[in-house]
Amino acid sequence: MKRVLLKLSGEALAGDKHMGFDEPTVTKVAKQVKEIVDAGLEVSIVIGGGNFWRGRSSENIDRTKADQIGMLATVMNCIYVSEIFRSVGMKTQILTPFACGAFTKLFSKDRVNKYFEKGIVSFFAGGTGHPYFSTDTATVLRAIEIEADVILLAKSIDGVYDSDPKTNPDAKKYDEISIQEVIDRKLGVVDMAASILCMENKMPMLVFGLNEENSIVNTVNGKFNGTKVTV
Ligand code: UDP
Repeated sequence: MKRVLLKLSGEALAGDKHMGFDEPTVTKVAKQVKEIVDAGLEVSIVIGGGNFWRGRSSENIDRTKADQIGMLATVMNCIYVSEIFRSVGMKTQILTPFACGAFTKLFSKDRVNKYFEKGIVSFFAGGTGHPYFSTDTATVLRAIEIEADVILLAKSIDGVYDSDPKTNPDAKKYDEISIQEVIDRKLGVVDMAASILCMENKMPMLVFGLNEENSIVNTVNGKFNGTKVTV
């Protein structure tokens, strides 16, 4: 692999606090990403917003407005994580599908390619820019657009299971599973819209646990022990 898109969930940034940011957690991620960037990999990042807000967080406000808050939450997350990345020595830029003044740059494929040439890590903030979508959809969409080789899906769980291991002690973890089977069995690795986009555009995913020691580095160095989602 040469070019990857790493998806981090918002909750992963919050560590045990479940809300906001946990700096030691994010710093660990930053040091791992620096290692793979220094080794020559082109890395881009999408971050969820669940540590602040989700479109379904309130039943009393308009869904479109709630989703806009969610998209802005992902922008805050990217500004924070981008700064932590810089603090460990990486070059970063934040790209959004809508104008955020001087806070971010507008997303374009050409711009991302220029950043990759300069060894800059691109953060794709603000999701797709549209309500009723998710950062899962944004992840797959951006991975396809920038012609990433693979999506690295860092989760709070260490792979894809046939049922929820929190409630079923006999849940079985897959080493490998096709995206078609993920869809047929509604395994929810990413949401349905994102799964279909992955299948139609043949975008593979490597799913692994962010909490496992050095898991990002291990995943790209062939010591992967999560689930490979094939296309
Ligand atoms: N969101 C959106 N469009 C997008 C991406 C995100 O409206 O393209 C909003 C949506 O409200 C979502 C929130 O941002 O709930 C946070 O994104 P994330 O994907 O983390 O949310 P989740 O999938 O956990 O709902």
